Amino acid sequence: MKQKAECPLYTVGMLSWVEIDATALRNNLELFREKVGDKVELAPVVKSNAYGHGMMTVTGLCQDMADRLCVNSLGEAAALRQAGVELPIVVMGYVEQADLPELVSLDIQPVVTSLETLDRLAGEVVRQARTLKVHLKVETGTHRQGVPLRELQPFVLKIKASPGLELEGLSTHYANIEDTTDHSFAMAQIATFGAARKAVEGWLGKPVPVCHTACSAATLLLKETHMDLVRIGIALYGLWPSRETLVSCREEGGDLPDLRPVMTWKSRIAQVRSVEEGSYIGYGCTYRTTRESKIAVLPVGYNEGYDRRLSGTGHVLVRGRRAPVRGRVCMNMTMVDVTDIPGAALEDEAVLLGAQHDEQISAGQLAGWCGTIAYEVVTRVNPTLPRIVVNPGH
Ligand SMILES: *Cc1c(COP(=O)(O)O)cnc(C)c1O
Repeated sequence: MKQKAECPLYTVGMLSWVEIDATALRNNLELFREKVGDKVELAPVVKSNAYGHGMMTVTGLCQDMADRLCVNSLGEAAALRQAGVELPIVVMGYVEQADLPELVSLDIQPVVTSLETLDRLAGEVVRQARTLKVHLKVETGTHRQGVPLRELQPFVLKIKASPGLELEGLSTHYANIEDTTDHSFAMAQIATFGAARKAVEGWLGKPVPVCHTACSAATLLLKETHMDLVRIGIALYGLWPSRETLVSCREEGGDLPDLRPVMTWKSRIAQVRSVEEGSYIGYGCTYRTTRESKIAVLPVGYNEGYDRRLSGTGHVLVRGRRAPVRGRVCMNMTMVDVTDIPGAALEDEAVLLGAQHDEQISAGQLAGWCGTIAYEVVTRVNPTLPRIVVNPGH
């Protein structure tokens, strides 16, 4: 793969940047390899700019350990092919009818959930004199994508009757695995999936090569979900899918996997100024100093992905200590209180997400402050900020 920069808008004057810990990423993937054994495929999920970590950067770092890649859109898959990635790529999201010829010519595996798409693909592989491996998605309880068992037969018969199409995979996705420590809904989904698999294999007259259902939480918690391939997203980036997943894992006993966060988001102080007691800070005058204070300006705001809900709530790290956000987060700037951080000075490094000395601000903590989940926090870091690989190991 040609290692290209993650194409920031500007190549000079970057006021904040994302560091990607290569060793942590590979450690996380190795941990999953150990967990699932040699016979199960590992499919890193690199959709949404690899959950904000940089799709090209992450793919470059882990493709030698991956069996397949999962993305959301054909655009993402095409970008990977353009960069020279030859691994099988599965597009999990919708591909528009007009884009199906491109999908066939790039040899990207779709997850099919409609007969219209399947018919078009059957025609297209003939037209291009190519073959294509497709996956079918079974509805088992999410009611998002997926074909219910009672509607599956025509899909299978169509594939069977189309010389250029091959049923490579049968998949589903769990509805209620991250949000609870009770896995009965997931177990019911596994049963529904099993029934669909049996029916499909009956119609097809042979086994489906790759059955896959597991996301990170399922892979961590339920061995019976592993089947032939696991789709690892959030945990690849060293983040627990949820507190409930962590609690469930802990309750099961055994060793907790040592997931290591991959992303650190940094900036530098752009100004430090003393402010008198009783002064207002920022838009809306939502914070008033209660003492003479030292207020630092960080050149990062909600445009860069620093959520406006962190106004008056979040903290950043400066010199290994917490500096609380004062007043509102602006579009490109945020004010923080460094009164209690001796020596805090212009162009000191500030950590918005990640560790500095002995302190840490986790994606989970930022998510808690914002009323969201760690997935959204990392995914929203503006893709135009540079992703820089650190800690390469050897
Ligand atoms: C995003 C996604 C995953 C990965 O989920 P994580 O919880 O991030 O591991 C797996 N499967 C499908 C269908 C997805 O859309």
